[in-house]
Amino acid sequence: MLKKLSIPTVSLLILLGLLSCINANLPTSGSEILVLTGGGLIDGTGSDPVNKAVIVIQDGRILAVCRAKDIEIPTRATIVDVEGLTVLPGFFNTHVHRGASRNNLRAWAWEGVTTVRDLGYDADSLFEFRSGLPDDPQFARLVATGPLITVPGGYPDVVFGGAWSLPVESLGTAREKAEELLDRGADLLKIVLESGVIFGRRIPILSPEQAELIVKLAHGRGTRVSAHVTSVEDLRAVIKSRADDIAHMVIDGIVPDSLINRIVKNGIYWVPTLELWAGGGSPLFRANAIENLRLFVNAGGKVALGTDYEGYSIEFELGMPLREMGLMREAGMTPMQIIVAATSNAAKVCNLERELGTVEKGKIADLLVVEGDPLSDLGSLRRVKLVIHDGVIIRNELTP
Ligand SMILES: [Zn+2]
Repeated sequence: MLKKLSIPTVSLLILLGLLSCINANLPTSGSEILVLTGGGLIDGTGSDPVNKAVIVIQDGRILAVCRAKDIEIPTRATIVDVEGLTVLPGFFNTHVHRGASRNNLRAWAWEGVTTVRDLGYDADSLFEFRSGLPDDPQFARLVATGPLITVPGGYPDVVFGGAWSLPVESLGTAREKAEELLDRGADLLKIVLESGVIFGRRIPILSPEQAELIVKLAHGRGTRVSAHVTSVEDLRAVIKSRADDIAHMVIDGIVPDSLINRIVKNGIYWVPTLELWAGGGSPLFRANAIENLRLFVNAGGKVALGTDYEGYSIEFELGMPLREMGLMREAGMTPMQIIVAATSNAAKVCNLERELGTVEKGKIADLLVVEGDPLSDLGSLRRVKLVIHDGVIIRNELTP
């Protein structure tokens, strides 16, 4: 039987709701304050949308998120009326390549994909590009692993060549090279556990000890590790390594429930790259990828959106990854689950969940405002009205 809430409980709840706004300590001086008013808010946490939200931004951060009735808007603020529109966190693509390109970063940010995670590039080019990239919000934020940590004669060398790989021969060199990569500026690490099933050949992989050591080292330095696999049997190595996310859905068969459950229980995120599997390879790869994603989501698994942009010689979508989202829908994911995969879950696999991925007080102000309701039509993500990156409006399609 439902218990009625007591009057003191009700007032406490109301008070708590109000407090987050009263305690916002909206400044009366300092730099410019930007306020978005009246929009419907999908905050990236998976919570129900909030109508007529007010979002207060200063110095690149979100100062307060309130309902309109709960806040007095500072008189000196710049007010942007987004009534009738939908406000969301900036989106992510957590598996791309060619992130070290000003044109690509500009194209992503322009469409509201304000952060991308590059999962493979040669270290020298990546770090050189990043050091020369101006601190300009028109470029999407680039989070990167640098090269893939693998073994001599391993993937990707034996299939695609070694331009993006960092082979390690022993536990000692695994430690040394992983440390060096992080010292040079890699945000996260990527390990290869690809034993070659889909390539029809046996490919050597990192030993369990090497993989575990690299993951432990990354965790010790406050960051995370993504693991490359494509086949069901290699998932055991991922679980053993304690890597944080799986960089592709596996495609050579259907993942048994017992394995799915272990991945869910270990809190390992999955980045499906369905666009890759739908565009490159056999129809069976596409079907297996979609079915495995369905099983993983039904088991309560956490998904982060990533496409493998330019990771293979097929045409990928640059900007808002709607093709990937359409395939995630085919796997039975709801629009809300897909939005969470592209925002808060994505922030987590980028090791940025404390700063990004949701529209909440204290977070970096990366916001996307679109026309229409993405919960009934993800295509409305294409109808961009406003993009805010690091608190700066970088695209404004609102009619004055
Ligand atoms: Zn890739």
